[in-house]
Amino acid sequence: MDMNRHEFELDDLIERIKDNDNRLVALQVPEGLKMQALEMMDAIEEETSARIILAADPCYGACDLVHDKMQRMGVELVAHMGHSQMNIDSGMPTEFINVTYDGDPAIDPVLPILSAHREIAQKRLSESLNESEMSEEEAQERFMDAVGRVSPLRGAKLGLVGSIQHLHLIFDYKERLESAGFEVEVPVGGARLSFPGQVLGCNYSGDSDDIGHYLFLGSGDFHPIGLVLHTGKPLAMLDPYTGGAEEMSFQRIEGILRQRFGLIMSCDQAKTFGILIGEKPGQMRRNLALRMKRKLEKHGRKGYLLALEHVGPELIDFYPVDAFVNTACPRIAIDDSVRYAKPLLTPFELEVVLGDKKWESGYKFDEIP
Ligand code: SF4
Repeated sequence: MDMNRHEFELDDLIERIKDNDNRLVALQVPEGLKMQALEMMDAIEEETSARIILAADPCYGACDLVHDKMQRMGVELVAHMGHSQMNIDSGMPTEFINVTYDGDPAIDPVLPILSAHREIAQKRLSESLNESEMSEEEAQERFMDAVGRVSPLRGAKLGLVGSIQHLHLIFDYKERLESAGFEVEVPVGGARLSFPGQVLGCNYSGDSDDIGHYLFLGSGDFHPIGLVLHTGKPLAMLDPYTGGAEEMSFQRIEGILRQRFGLIMSCDQAKTFGILIGEKPGQMRRNLALRMKRKLEKHGRKGYLLALEHVGPELIDFYPVDAFVNTACPRIAIDDSVRYAKPLLTPFELEVVLGDKKWESGYKFDEIP
């Protein structure tokens, strides 16, 4: 990753610090940008009379805002970099700092993948429109999407999404793709998202029945995996850092689903569960955790509520329970479960274990709205 091509937009922050005459400011930087943190602290201290404290704990999203702990340290303002505002109140005045990347790769390498995906989407759509002429069994057979659900499609548009540092290019890419013959929609999601085309590892709420397939502008497979698990739709990826194009293969998704099903099966006889509640402001789902506890009780099993700021194997493996249910960041169970000695389930997966939900009706991604 070429850090010189990233732009850190510090001007608004510097102005706010000066206007408010802030003396102590906490800077929160995502993991991938921590190497640049000291440079940024210098830049802010040179321009203002504030002292900057780096909130050096791991930070993976705006769900993880510095909250009242730093208020007790005397911090007056939090500068949170690289993520956008979500529908949470951390209790601290917070300035969100945009980070953008100027790489804008050509779309040519991804066009063949998009054409193939459009065909899949159009086939699903036409089958979906003929639904009334089929028996329920036939329909189930034919409309299964990548996660085993019956897909109610109303369109086969290309949904164009990206990770936050590339979203400034999204409407430019929309035009390029339209010129290449695609009908493109930039989805607008719910209150957890700030920008058109934005997706988070735990939120793909812009998805609609008009969208038949996706292009993700960004790097890595974290968002693509979540998007396919959530929507069941074909997805291509264009990486602004390398210019490379590839698809999220259905085999990969099938592999993840097989692993999830294995974990569900392994909990069949489990009697005691640790129910994890995330303490981070944007991960805290107390009501969901309490609902899981009630469900366990109803089915004659036992649930213990465990609240944590960070979730890790060293912090939970030793508890004498048979398995865990995670209500903190949904991706901990999906992406990291191999690191844990005991099964780590999502709330939906627990409901399948208990027989309240059916695996056969399709996988339900654990989304935080
Ligand atoms: S995926 Fe997890 S870390 Fe990322 S925003 Fe959602 S809750 Fe936070």
